[in-house]
Amino acid sequence: MRPEAYGGSEALATLHRVFGYEAFRGDQEAVIEHVVAGGDAVVLMPTGAGKSLCYQIPALVRPGTGVVVSPLIALMQDQVDALRALGVRAGFVNSTQDFDERRTVEAEFLAGELDLLYLAPERLRLESSLELLSRGKISVFAIDEAHCVSQWGHDFRPDYLALSLLGERWPDVPRIALTATATHSTHQEITQRLRMDRARHFVASFDRPNIQYRIVPKADPKKQLLTLLREEHAGDAGIVYCLSRNSVEKTAEYLTRNGVAAVPYHAGLDAGVRAAHQSRFLREDGLVVVATIAFGMGIDKPDVRFVAHLDLPKSVEGYYQETGRAGRDGLPSTAWMAYGLNDVIQQRKLIRSGEGDEAHRRRVETHLDAMLALCETARCRRGQLLAYFGQEAGPDGCGNCDTCLVPPETWDGTVAAQKVLSTVWRLDRERRQKFGAVQIVDILLGRRTAKVIQFDHDQLSVFGIGEELSEGEWRGVVRQLLAQGLLAVEGEYGTLVLTGESGEVLGRKREVPLRKEPKPAVARSASPKG
Ligand code: ADP
Ligand code: ZN
Repeated sequence: MRPEAYGGSEALATLHRVFGYEAFRGDQEAVIEHVVAGGDAVVLMPTGAGKSLCYQIPALVRPGTGVVVSPLIALMQDQVDALRALGVRAGFVNSTQDFDERRTVEAEFLAGELDLLYLAPERLRLESSLELLSRGKISVFAIDEAHCVSQWGHDFRPDYLALSLLGERWPDVPRIALTATATHSTHQEITQRLRMDRARHFVASFDRPNIQYRIVPKADPKKQLLTLLREEHAGDAGIVYCLSRNSVEKTAEYLTRNGVAAVPYHAGLDAGVRAAHQSRFLREDGLVVVATIAFGMGIDKPDVRFVAHLDLPKSVEGYYQETGRAGRDGLPSTAWMAYGLNDVIQQRKLIRSGEGDEAHRRRVETHLDAMLALCETARCRRGQLLAYFGQEAGPDGCGNCDTCLVPPETWDGTVAAQKVLSTVWRLDRERRQKFGAVQIVDILLGRRTAKVIQFDHDQLSVFGIGEELSEGEWRGVVRQLLAQGLLAVEGEYGTLVLTGESGEVLGRKREVPLRKEPKPAVARSASPKG
């Protein structure tokens, strides 16, 4: 039988019979037909688009077992349970199992009794695992979260590099690589490193029109969050991301104290507590999980109405994935973030004092810069986000992000920038002590604080030259200069220093357009367009 001959109809029949769905979505059908017919595929689809069916159905339609490589060990049990509930013969092999459990699954595989076998990537580094696979019949290899192969990405897993050998060892078995990360460079790296040169590429639109993107200046983040929840998301399920375990705990407590059903989730919690909170989130209505980024990979809850960030994500990829957990059901949802000067200082500091060589640091910094550009843009957030993923947005803005709903004003910040930079330059020249943003702003505002007097900073020519702006506005200027690379952070105390580009501003060779600081209140949302 020609493979094409049974591809289409049998795939659709499987969709109906096994999964109970009416129709394919987006590229699903094209991908499935191609893989069922034996072709390789690289699939870039946003979170929630339905990547799993793209390999599950070929695994069911083609003879043999579909081998799924996934780094999400913690979720394998759930995924396999969910498939078994549908009558799919699925199993997994990973480090959480004991010897007997593994033996049972291996025997099922060899006996041809499995439709799907989930494997952790490190398994495929073991010759014993490869040999086991050679003794069974494989219908398709699925490489999930394929961006983990990218050394430039935010989620690199060395074990993924070994996956290039699958194509050599099993040239007749189709391979499908899937990811929700879609930058051009990640796409290229996936194709090259997994040696998918003959693959067809399926790139879905990354737009999530039902998600409203909003980034607000950080003032009192917990309170701002509470206002958002009370005014717009009362009783809704949502995820709140914080950087540290400590702030996860505190935020969860704060929400609970204020009448919002909320639980914490981070890697420092007991595994049992974590599992309990995760399953409550999946099963209950309207629970809020406050979490570090340890939470969410592979979580499939359709009615998450908001994702809030109380701290700045480290990359646009991370931000997109995390916010992408909102609104999988297609209904209006909010991606909200509070962001301020300290976020920039902290992250720059972490990078500078962090581990890794200079090349690594620069890479991490590039990711951060793109994230900062998204925060500081006066243009449509969605447009900027899609542009980052190499996709074009309409020229008129989306109508469903904060900058489209309430366009921010910009102003010529050249003089303000010069004032900040020359203050930094004067303090730097003293070399006795290093100073951070607080001291700079106090000097500009002409405040005789203890620390200003201690260092005779009221004697500087720049003392009090910035009374035209408020403290919040000066912090905004410093933040934007940091974001634009016109200022840098050094050392463990977050000392501000000039950069190679600062001189252009001081020497009047460069203008500095800045975004006007909006009032630090939660913007009211309008209903999404369309
Ligand atoms: P991804 O891996 O791309 O994030 P999933 O494969 O987890 O997305 O699918 C997201 C949700 O959409 C799941 O609940 C899945 O069952 C559902 N889904 C996928 N394809 C379809 C379809 N064709 N019709 C209806 N629901 C679908
Ligand atoms: Zn917009």
